Amino acid sequence: DIFPGRKNSAGIDLSDPLVLEPLQERLAALESRHWTAEPTFMSGADAEIAPINKPHDLSAEVGTRRDTLDFEVEEAITRAEAIQPGWDRLGGEKRAVLLEAAADLFEEHTDEFLSLCQREAGKTLMDAVLELREAVDFLRFYANEARRQFTGPIPLPGPTGEENRLSLHGRGVFACISPWNFPLAIFIGTPVAALAAGNTVVAKPAEQTPLIAALAVRLCHQAGIPEEAFQLLPGAGEVGEMITSDPRIAGVAFTGSTQTAQAINRGLAAREGPIATLIAETGGQNAMIVDSTALPEQVTRDVVASAFQSAGQRCSALRVLYIQDDVYDEMLKMIRGGFEALTIGNPEHLATDVGPVIDMDAKSSLERHVARRKKGGFPVWRRRLHRGANAGCFVAPTIVEMDSILDLKRENFGPILHVVRYRAADLGRVVEDINATGYGLTMGLHSRNDDTRAFVEARAKVGNFYVNRNQIGAVVESQPFGGEGLSGTGPKAGGPHYVARFATERVVCIDT
Ligand code: NAD
Repeated sequence: DIFPGRKNSAGIDLSDPLVLEPLQERLAALESRHWTAEPTFMSGADAEIAPINKPHDLSAEVGTRRDTLDFEVEEAITRAEAIQPGWDRLGGEKRAVLLEAAADLFEEHTDEFLSLCQREAGKTLMDAVLELREAVDFLRFYANEARRQFTGPIPLPGPTGEENRLSLHGRGVFACISPWNFPLAIFIGTPVAALAAGNTVVAKPAEQTPLIAALAVRLCHQAGIPEEAFQLLPGAGEVGEMITSDPRIAGVAFTGSTQTAQAINRGLAAREGPIATLIAETGGQNAMIVDSTALPEQVTRDVVASAFQSAGQRCSALRVLYIQDDVYDEMLKMIRGGFEALTIGNPEHLATDVGPVIDMDAKSSLERHVARRKKGGFPVWRRRLHRGANAGCFVAPTIVEMDSILDLKRENFGPILHVVRYRAADLGRVVEDINATGYGLTMGLHSRNDDTRAFVEARAKVGNFYVNRNQIGAVVESQPFGGEGLSGTGPKAGGPHYVARFATERVVCIDT
């Protein structure tokens, strides 16, 4: 226990009608609110204004995004660079107090955040509640890290009577670039770690979800974090590229697809100036293995949650399920039963389990994948979509049988579960195949056999390995999250080594 007495936020108990009913009324009152996202320091020049619509109802506008112009990116970095030494000298304790004030403000603005998660990102209420909770946990956890590692130097031995000490400092200006699938938690997590370490931040949210990011940044400023120290730069990928190619950027914290991380890495290598740090948290090809000792009801619950919760749009989500052949038919039948019971529809309705995917590009890429599997002659089960689904970006949850995880060339980021049959004697090969994808984010195992658990655990090359439970929803401090190989550079978000990776170390030696 690194912080005795520290606690994650309590969240909201949606099972209590005294909590739920007033919350739903307050959310309904926010339905017509129009939101904006714009650069923190905006010039008067003309720029593109893009509408942000609900993924589940493309005719409903939630707000607008005003993109950042090239010269505004440059000016933003100039401002962030100028204020960084002062922010660093402020020290860990004072930065922690500001981050904790921001956490309190986030909780005070619960309704707005939940409303935006639902309307801008198409999340169910449960997913929205979990997302806000994680964001608040990141703020408080990294604040504690600032206090623990950035308040005063560590004394070192001085064998000849000299004084030696080591201290951690910000590297400079960090670029934080985030995806749409956790538009609040991930958007805020990396900047807060960078700020805690004494860096200043220019943050580019995903083009699909800038509105919730804009609210988060405004509240951080209201909490007392200087505007120059944490700036929002909305825009598409080109704005991200412009930021990361600036030689004044000391580090990049990126979360998103493996392909984009590789492009950023190449860009940093080709860039003039100091060598930048890259922290990248990327995609996965996540598998679960179910052997004949597993409990079928538990497997059904955990497979359905891992593959279909959040419409499969979690980097940790289950993509490929390996089931041992002696229980294959029975287990698949039960999983299909759970799958048939899912309610698909408007995420703003309480009964909905599976909402939309983020946009039409995501939908068509997932549909192309299912069509290819069908053409290959593999059995495919699809849920029928609800009436009115055409108004939004809905993909019918799908189960596809196949032969091996190695048949998948890329991540399919949506509600599609692939199922593979394996023989007990081939368990070693199954783990080898999973490792051979090169990804290493999450893996699940359902088995009551300790030898099997030890065997798989010793061989699984993944960041997060889950046994006899679902493989999504890592909790800050308890299950630090992040992958290896094609899935990321580490360190783990919400873990004890994360914030220090945003820092540089300095040693002072004073002779007497
Ligand atoms: P993406 O790579 O398309 O975009 C991510 C961000 O990068 C966006 O803000 C985008 O505008 C920006 N970007 C695009 N091109 C850029 C460039 N050349 N230079 C700089 N920035 C650029 O990813 P996405 O579709 O938004 O998110 C889904 C992906 O994120 C999935 O692959 C998922 O697995 C991954 N993800 C990983 C984690 C993790 O912790 N490992 C968490 C969440 C999501």
